Amino acid sequence: MKRISANIFAVLVLALTLAACQTVPYTGRSQFLMTSKAQEDQLGEDAWREVCAKEKKCTNQQYNEALLRVGTSIAQISGQSDFKWEFRVFQSKEANAFCLPGGKVAVYSELFKLAANDAELASVVGHEIGHAIARHGGERMSQAAVQSAGLQVVSAATKGNTAWTQAYGIATEVGGMLPYSRLHEYEADYIGLMLMAKAGYDPNAAISFWNKFKTVGSSGPFGEFFSTHPMSEKRIEEMRLKMPEAINLYNKCPNKKGLGVRYR
Ligand SMILES: [Zn+2]
Repeated sequence: MKRISANIFAVLVLALTLAACQTVPYTGRSQFLMTSKAQEDQLGEDAWREVCAKEKKCTNQQYNEALLRVGTSIAQISGQSDFKWEFRVFQSKEANAFCLPGGKVAVYSELFKLAANDAELASVVGHEIGHAIARHGGERMSQAAVQSAGLQVVSAATKGNTAWTQAYGIATEVGGMLPYSRLHEYEADYIGLMLMAKAGYDPNAAISFWNKFKTVGSSGPFGEFFSTHPMSEKRIEEMRLKMPEAINLYNKCPNKKGLGVRYR
């Protein structure tokens, strides 16, 4: 009986693993997902409704037109035919940007103080769309689910010994979540660079934008965006290394825009 249970368990684990392993577009990395695309899209829709109800819509025509122009160009070449794209600029003193699962893209008005032209805006929008295409949200949720299950097992085994669970918590935090988010940032940087180049924006603008972002640091309105997007020389260096590949894509684009429209 014990042996049969073990076999069933092994088969279940194998089935779950096979069903849940996906390949990230552009980078080809294997990722473990316990969420379905439909679930992630639904969560994205719900979050979008919430944010749109809470945040103030920006009325600056220049900013709205810029996001629509740049966002549409990137959406068209991204190959995500099942995304229901929407682009919105929110009025805020906080600089931020995101793309929710399923293609809802937001840029906060304050960010336009840093982006000087369409190509620099494309580097941010491309990065955020990169997170969505790579299903980083689903991957984080899956990872959190595995960690909390792991924590329950440890709690049961040690009868709730807090020292153990704390140690486990710290171990998973340092060994799991943090480097993972760095991995996601590098991946979104890479996908964003390829997307902007494919859409016809000069990929060198990514270096100029993220360099400015790095200099501004966590001060002022960029605090929150900076904390979710820790910027380092290493990230910029990594983008520089990928630049020949991006330039190659850019050169193949029949509709090159260079830096595009300048904002000031
Ligand atoms: Zn990011």
